[in-house]
Amino acid sequence: MNPRNRLNFSGGPGALPECVLQQLQQAIIEVPGVGLSILGISHRSDWFAAVVAELEANIRSLLGLPTGYHVLFLQGGATQQFSMIPMTLLRGRRAPAEYLHTGYWSGKSVAEAQREGPVRVLWSGEQGGFRELPTVADLDFSADAPYLHYVSNETVEGLQFHRLLGRDDVPRVCDMSSDFLSQPCAAERFSLIYAHAQKNVGPAGVTIVLLRDELLKDVPPNLPGYMDYRNHALAHSNFNTPPVFAIYAVLLVTRWLLDDIGGLEGMAAINQRKAALLYAQIDASDGFYRGRAKPVDRSEMNCAFNLDSAELETRFLAAATQAGFSGLAGHRAVGGIRASLYNALTLPAVEQLVGFMADFQHRESRHRTENSGLSSSVSPSS
Ligand SMILES: *Cc1c(COP(=O)(O)O)cnc(C)c1O
Repeated sequence: MNPRNRLNFSGGPGALPECVLQQLQQAIIEVPGVGLSILGISHRSDWFAAVVAELEANIRSLLGLPTGYHVLFLQGGATQQFSMIPMTLLRGRRAPAEYLHTGYWSGKSVAEAQREGPVRVLWSGEQGGFRELPTVADLDFSADAPYLHYVSNETVEGLQFHRLLGRDDVPRVCDMSSDFLSQPCAAERFSLIYAHAQKNVGPAGVTIVLLRDELLKDVPPNLPGYMDYRNHALAHSNFNTPPVFAIYAVLLVTRWLLDDIGGLEGMAAINQRKAALLYAQIDASDGFYRGRAKPVDRSEMNCAFNLDSAELETRFLAAATQAGFSGLAGHRAVGGIRASLYNALTLPAVEQLVGFMADFQHRESRHRTENSGLSSSVSPSS
């Protein structure tokens, strides 16, 4: 079925749908109907203008985005948004922006915002090793914050908010890099959503930014040209040479979501089944596999877990590589194991992984029993 010979559970860049890879392969040689390689098509061509227009329309349609939003395709990754957002919305302001420090990536966003203006960290999970998210009672949002920033899915720790945060009278700004287009997200309740492509919706090189028009009313003067959202909005994401290939790849992914998957409802149903299968395997393992995140805050995109010792984890990873799985090592900041279940990672791939996990556990338990001198009570066939 799958012509790739390794199953890609990487935390990012993530797997892409097979049908998208095939179309990209074709496009590198020649875009159908254009007669040129996509790597050499002008970003000023009508063809590319149509790609951008269709991609924008697809994203609006997938999210049910009302009018009054810009949809931009920028470079610099999510990391550049960590800076561009406070440059635009916080520079020169007195009231602090409110940030949630829920893991590795939100930590980076806080540090960048602090360069631009006052920041109030409303809640931090650092003391607890980022194993859970704040509850409703933990959060006291203020009405005068210029905005609230949070990360919907903490990719490294495997934590995901399963509810909307904040107040309706303070702009919500959200980094959805690792769960964008994985499920419906009430986009109309946010003032700014950003997501780079390379976890869930495409290759690295493009970052999608949805922002309400009114956020751009009070932009501070003299921002560097590239850092001023207004330039990108005016130029229809063609302010300077955009990443044509990456944008086209994201277009193909949105077509796949719309035409083959049944939109975000369809995608969410598949993603829920994948995550449920994997967490069930962990929960049924009698502590052999231990989920990192508190169960209510578990991510459907990134499942981070540990085994008893670093040594056992190393053996698990080696055996997994041998068995054809790729990208299962945890992020370097936390170690352990992480299985990322982005949109294009299929249910059969997760079934194979849980089968492998069951086998590995079985082999290890037998091995341990033998080593503890009880081997005579274990039948050779077990
Ligand atoms: C991976 C990741 C980032 C970093 O994105 P870059 O495009 O490499 O700058 C930021 N936020 C989240 C939630 C991520 O998962």
